[in-house]
Amino acid sequence: MKLPLYLDYNATTPIDHRVFEAMMPHLGEEFGNSASIDHLHGARASDAVEKARAAIAGTINARPEELLFTSGATESDNLALIGVMEANEDKGDHLITSKMEHPAVLETAKYLQKRGKHVTFLDVDRTGLLDPDAIAKAITNRTVLISVMMANNEIGTIEPVEVIGRIAHERGIYFHTDATQAIGKLSVDVRAMNIDLMSFSAHKVYGPKGMGALFIRRRNPFVKVSAQIHGGGHERGLRSGTINTAAVVGFSKALQLCYEALSSEPPRMQALRERLWQGLKSRVAGTELNGHPTKCIPNCLNVYLPGVENRALMLTMKDQLAFSAGSACATSKVEPSHVLTALGYSASRSHNSIRLSLGRPTTTEEVDLAIEEISRMANTIRNRFCSTAQS
Ligand SMILES: *Cc1c(COP(=O)(O)O)cnc(C)c1O
Repeated sequence: MKLPLYLDYNATTPIDHRVFEAMMPHLGEEFGNSASIDHLHGARASDAVEKARAAIAGTINARPEELLFTSGATESDNLALIGVMEANEDKGDHLITSKMEHPAVLETAKYLQKRGKHVTFLDVDRTGLLDPDAIAKAITNRTVLISVMMANNEIGTIEPVEVIGRIAHERGIYFHTDATQAIGKLSVDVRAMNIDLMSFSAHKVYGPKGMGALFIRRRNPFVKVSAQIHGGGHERGLRSGTINTAAVVGFSKALQLCYEALSSEPPRMQALRERLWQGLKSRVAGTELNGHPTKCIPNCLNVYLPGVENRALMLTMKDQLAFSAGSACATSKVEPSHVLTALGYSASRSHNSIRLSLGRPTTTEEVDLAIEEISRMANTIRNRFCSTAQS
């Protein structure tokens, strides 16, 4: 077993070797610019990009022209929120989102607020679920867009996006979802789920970093979005800049592999997650789950270990185990997780909680070692600091 053990797959995943192989030719001799199609080099690059676009679109039940390539989910979220709010000023100036969105959505919403838009940040319940009735109540005749993530990156809770999308459509409002943590783990159908815009990323599904996509619905309704990156008019004028052919091809291959394993891999993850949960619960007194017990992506476990400061645990275990204390983007700050705060938990519970996320390479042996090591260290730290359990 290679140490430190990696249990932080919600932060990023390694490139699958089959993805790597699919990308290689496009990093070498197939170097054409997919926008320069007057010669064969460019035409071949364009063919590769369009083949990948069609394949990715197919996996989410979208049409190829509805899929736009970006540098990742962060850019997709920015384009969705800013682009829609800007392009639909005639319809209104109100955005509805939740308090536990990824910073890519939260911070963009705050930016829009500074630019004069009105934003409602909705509460979630103790398990991280949004109440669709609360969304319906928050809608005004100035509401343009609702943005709610499909699955949370810290606690894994799966939101009722299909219902939220239906409410949005009944009121003539657009619905955006950040599906970065759901894609490849759940089956996602943008039409059945009433989604108008959807962000996702390659590096969370064993593809390359710096590659993402935004689905923008082109029919029933046609979603108006204004470009945020201007230039040569690539991606239907919505996102200029030469496309990273190798990354696009890798993204497509990565998703294909996830979908091929969609009936076997999620149940395997779920079983490992359950083993990890039961193991920790039985060995560390007072352990509690953060999130929803069943409406959860299969690879994610967020646990409260009373009296065990997560940063102390992380530091003492850094040669054995890689995991997360709060979201990756917040690791340089000592602030409590905004997600656990949104769930109504105290700062102390937040600082005593860790996120373990499993992935394709994770084995039963790794999970057993993680249980052993975490419980041993947790009990040591607890005794050393004589902390008392509190919530
Ligand atoms: C990782 C993540 C992002 C950011 O994706 P990048 O491709 O790294 O920009 C956005 N939203 C969620 C839910 C994520 O998990």
